Amino acid sequence: KARDPTPVEELSPADVFIAVKTTKKYHHTRLDLLLDTWISTNMLQTYVFTDGEDDRLRKRMGSHMINTNCSAAHSRQALSCKMAVEYDTFISSGKKWFCHVDDDNYVNIRPLVKLLLDRPSPRSSGARPVRFWFATGGAGFCVSRGLALKMSPWASGGNFMTTADRIRLPDDCTVGYIIETLLGVGLIRSPLFHSHLENLQLVSPTQIHHQVTLSYGTFDSKRNIINVRGALSLDEDPTSLHCLSECLCAKLSLLCVF
Ligand code: UDP
Ligand code: MN
Repeated sequence: KARDPTPVEELSPADVFIAVKTTKKYHHTRLDLLLDTWISTNMLQTYVFTDGEDDRLRKRMGSHMINTNCSAAHSRQALSCKMAVEYDTFISSGKKWFCHVDDDNYVNIRPLVKLLLDRPSPRSSGARPVRFWFATGGAGFCVSRGLALKMSPWASGGNFMTTADRIRLPDDCTVGYIIETLLGVGLIRSPLFHSHLENLQLVSPTQIHHQVTLSYGTFDSKRNIINVRGALSLDEDPTSLHCLSECLCAKLSLLCVF
């Protein structure tokens, strides 16, 4: 096997900054599911961006709960206000990758780190920073530090909201607009990111643990969930994902898939 003279880029979970967008009314109904599963094992790299104080959440997450003081409305302005704070917090964190997910996403940190490692790193590839994107949003995306820094004139401080106001598009579209239109950088679409806007039954059960993000929801008032026979009933676990995650299963003394 030939030796590669260039030093191997190391990436560990600690280099990844995961921003979870939430809102006060979902702290119990959505965030608790995440805190009981993937966030609890990835507390050091996960930051929750919300819009109201919550003593219980503050005790659990400390400085990793960020009260953006943005409006709790589901308006375009309120959501881009949160994205602006996510961006600025990532820049100050010094971490190498900025990943954004919604509070109805499950994140698999191992395939995430593997995916980011397999991509040309911003340093070694010079002008080819990388971003992953799911066009409809709600599935998550990642931006390298190199690319995030180039976004600064349109994304830092109050600039993100100004940019979002100018194009009148939602927060995730604004990120895409800055990267593709203003910076001319192509987005890399990854099939490993999933939102509940796609048919989650189509994710093969044997491939679940290779996916970077998963989700759950309803479509036409029917459940849209990953096709896995959970050890819990759907009343106990509306996501079907709980028993794929180590810690809650440990709590319930169940056998885990991962
Ligand atoms: N959200 C928010 N403020 C709101 C409503 C929603 O910040 O007033 C967040 C929510 O926590 C989630 C994201 O926006 O992270 C998308 O919300 P939701 O999943 O309800 O909508 P959809 O997936 O249908 O766009
Ligand atoms: Mn959603």
